[in-house]
Amino acid sequence: TSFGFTTVAEGQKQGMVNDVFHKVAERYDLMNDLMSGGLHRVWKDAMVSVLAPPKTPAREWTLLDVAGGTGDISTKVVRRSNNAVKAVVCDINNSMLNVGQDRADKAGLSELIRFSQGNAEDLPFPDKTFDAYTIAFGIRNVPDIPKALREAHRVLKRGGRFLCLEFSEVDVPLLDKVYDAFSFKAIPPMGQVITGDGEPYRYLVESIRKFPHQERFAEMIREAGFERVTYRNYTGGIAALHSGWKF
Ligand code: SAM
Repeated sequence: TSFGFTTVAEGQKQGMVNDVFHKVAERYDLMNDLMSGGLHRVWKDAMVSVLAPPKTPAREWTLLDVAGGTGDISTKVVRRSNNAVKAVVCDINNSMLNVGQDRADKAGLSELIRFSQGNAEDLPFPDKTFDAYTIAFGIRNVPDIPKALREAHRVLKRGGRFLCLEFSEVDVPLLDKVYDAFSFKAIPPMGQVITGDGEPYRYLVESIRKFPHQERFAEMIREAGFERVTYRNYTGGIAALHSGWKF
């Protein structure tokens, strides 16, 4: 790339991503807070507000949170519903899931949040199972994004909602420069200090740069069969929330 980093071949991508998250599972939330200056919490809360899970569902209502890691989004959704809904956290990485399971046990939420190992490209669930599908800071790491989007569409019920929170393209002059400098110069050294290896963070920063911009990603969501696809930017486009419906 123009930043002088080597590109990871598609085939190696998943392996590299898995290494990163096995290494950081225990310190993952600390890393998030440090690297985003706490902003990831604000963006995730905004995502949960948009989803607005029912507080008194007429029937069982279940969220599938893919690449759900340690269960951040699921925990927020279940809490916001006053424990009225259920969530399934699906992640390819069992180290992340184990940390999440421990946390859910301690929070007394293990009846409401289930943890299930699986690949976003090939979800281990039947068609039309879920009322909502969320993926936060996860789709960027998936090698075949169109395939993951088709899977999201498949497992949703009719009337189901798709929400994706992801790092995106900064559209504010100057903020883009500051952001570039911060991510390329500060993130890898922070990873080095906290996990002992900066290289995977170079890769993660690079993957943010390669991810399609807001309009193009909205188009990909439409191509997977979703309707009424919209997005909104957070913090000048550092993150964006895409929404779609399955009808
Ligand atoms: N959603 C959580 C959050 O926002 O805190 C975790 C996000 S973390 C940056 C990315 C997660 O994606 C990791 O837990 C990783 O294991 C998972 N992941 C990567 N590739 C995946 C795939 N192909 N299928 C499912 N999960 C995947």
